[in-house]
Amino acid sequence: MTLSNGRHYLAIPGPSVAPDEVLRAMHRPSPNIYEGPLVDMVPGIVADLKKVARTEGEAVIYIANGHGAWEAALANTHSRGDRSLVLATGRFGHGWAEMAERMGVICDVLDFGRSDTHDLERVEAALRARDDYASVLVTHVDTSSSVLNDVAAVRALMDRVGSGALLMADCIASLACDRFEMDALGVDVMVAGCQKGLMVPPGMSYVFFNAKADAARETANCVTSYWDWRPRAAPEDFYQYFGGTAPTHHLYGQRAALDMIFAEGLEAVWARHRALAGAVWAALDCWAQDGPLRMNIGDPALRSNAVTAVSIGKPHGAQLRGWLTQNAGVTLGIGLGMATEEDPASEGYFRIGHMGHVNAQMVLGLLGTMEAGMRALQVPFGAGALEAAAMACTEAG
Ligand SMILES: *Cc1c(COP(=O)(O)O)cnc(C)c1O
Repeated sequence: MTLSNGRHYLAIPGPSVAPDEVLRAMHRPSPNIYEGPLVDMVPGIVADLKKVARTEGEAVIYIANGHGAWEAALANTHSRGDRSLVLATGRFGHGWAEMAERMGVICDVLDFGRSDTHDLERVEAALRARDDYASVLVTHVDTSSSVLNDVAAVRALMDRVGSGALLMADCIASLACDRFEMDALGVDVMVAGCQKGLMVPPGMSYVFFNAKADAARETANCVTSYWDWRPRAAPEDFYQYFGGTAPTHHLYGQRAALDMIFAEGLEAVWARHRALAGAVWAALDCWAQDGPLRMNIGDPALRSNAVTAVSIGKPHGAQLRGWLTQNAGVTLGIGLGMATEEDPASEGYFRIGHMGHVNAQMVLGLLGTMEAGMRALQVPFGAGALEAAAMACTEAG
């Protein structure tokens, strides 16, 4: 017997759950790309993306996943031989640095491990050791470790040591989940994708930048025609927003998702993510009282509201993921970047995506089925998790 029929919940940290409103908006014949509603709609999408990012700077759209936004952000701001300081708190920090290296940027990578945030003393020492960094790359939420990094603290440190480097933030996992206010944080370049907190199937990504970053574009020799952000930011013709044909259906999907975000209110969206993350952590805290389960990030202040990485010991992580998909209609994320010699396939890890179009019944249902899975697999766990999660939701309401 399987209890998996019914609506499946893809509880992975991206792509996130696509709302019916978004799917309906995308289900239409191809629209005209030369005039009419699609053409009229795009300036409003750009303006609304800036509102979500809390910036008065520019926003540009790429037909790409998050990796494309990474490359675009680097290309417009760096020349070959430039030097970048990369703060890596998991797989994604390393990934951005590897891309920069391949573009000819020399990266000094500070590795803070797989379950911790920046050590600001190390960052300060690095910034004081050289004054020629073109950029500092930070990952706001590293989706592999689920750590939430303090971007404001990095900005304050850069100001204190007088660093003129661009502060560039990866908010692909966190935008519209964890509070992020680009201008107030003093971030010069920010990258995001449509498929996580922005609730659209993968295919568009966004780069936000300020005047200081655009000044770097003036001399950057990594930039190529397609990735150039200038025509996209100030298009004379509609096609220049996208460097070619518009991502027609994705734009309708993003319009619908932005409407949902503003109907709820961005502050309320952030608060919902906080409350639901609190319910997840309340359950995980109880389960961790007995048995092998542990949250990857111990300090709640360093946890993202969008995703939670969990270790449960090999092979329980892989088994639990398999059981939930086959028997309960919910899929957890894999343990990304968590491979060790003892656990080369990360079978001891999983991640819970609680980003975007997620509500209390989805999270409480997920936690209940996780407990069923641990019972079925005879993984020991502490008691009281579901009650604690229910309580967390009640208190939040
Ligand atoms: C998902 C993600 C990426 C990569 O995005 P893709 O769309 O898979 O290219 C990069 N950084 C972070 C923090 C992410 O969560």
